Amino acid sequence: MKIRTSGLPKNLDRRIGLKIKYTKNIPIILPHLKKLSDKLDYFEFGLRETEDYRDYKKLIKDSDLFVTLHGPLYEENVNLIVPQKNKVNLRNLKFCQEAADYFNAKYIVLHPGDRETPEASLENLYYLLDKVKDKRFILENTPIKIKNRPYERLGVYIKDFLGFKEKGIDMCFDFGHARVETEIERKKYYAYTSNFIKKVNPQYFHLSGNDGTYDYHWIIRDKRSLIDYSKILPFLPKNALLTLEIDFFDKSDGFDKEKVLKDIDYLRKLIN
Ligand SMILES: [Zn+2]
Repeated sequence: MKIRTSGLPKNLDRRIGLKIKYTKNIPIILPHLKKLSDKLDYFEFGLRETEDYRDYKKLIKDSDLFVTLHGPLYEENVNLIVPQKNKVNLRNLKFCQEAADYFNAKYIVLHPGDRETPEASLENLYYLLDKVKDKRFILENTPIKIKNRPYERLGVYIKDFLGFKEKGIDMCFDFGHARVETEIERKKYYAYTSNFIKKVNPQYFHLSGNDGTYDYHWIIRDKRSLIDYSKILPFLPKNALLTLEIDFFDKSDGFDKEKVLKDIDYLRKLIN
């Protein structure tokens, strides 16, 4: 299946994308781009404000894939629920908008945020998104806590995302984050995810493997992973955009082409 579009697909097929850190990962992917673009429908680029997203435009145009974006995270001092960071927050949202215009990206994935200060709240997130008024921004579910961060997180539960929806904000459902969340709060994974998806009805997804202890971003076929995607596919919408958010490095930090292509093939078989 070959897709040629600079925007969202018009029909109701499920699509497969690969998330890469834009400037950091493109050089190692470059030699494999032809092979990848035969198999993929889109890239999700992780953006950093300190990097120039114009660097590889021609390359992406030639590849025929469409583009979605992932906004900068706490490493860049972004935290959308913390009012003390609103100057940086707003600057980054605008940066994302410019990049989305540039790539004609229809989605920009954001993390709601960590409760770093007592003032942190979803109200602050609403305030910011209301200021930019841009439907391309979608919010990703997170586990209540993640190993290497000391803070609780907001934007975890079905009720949070129903609240976002009421305000016209769609979501990116992350299966790896949900696996960690169900481990922490002792919920049944497949019941939890199917219920979440049924109620909130996302179209955009992140797929990776983990064992519930940490968001490892293993490939989805990883034997250690406790997420069986063949059980998940039945409750995905027909027009789902499925981004593989997987570790694609080999042992010497090169691009492990076989590993990635096999994961894409596996997912393609599941969705067809
Ligand atoms: Zn994710």
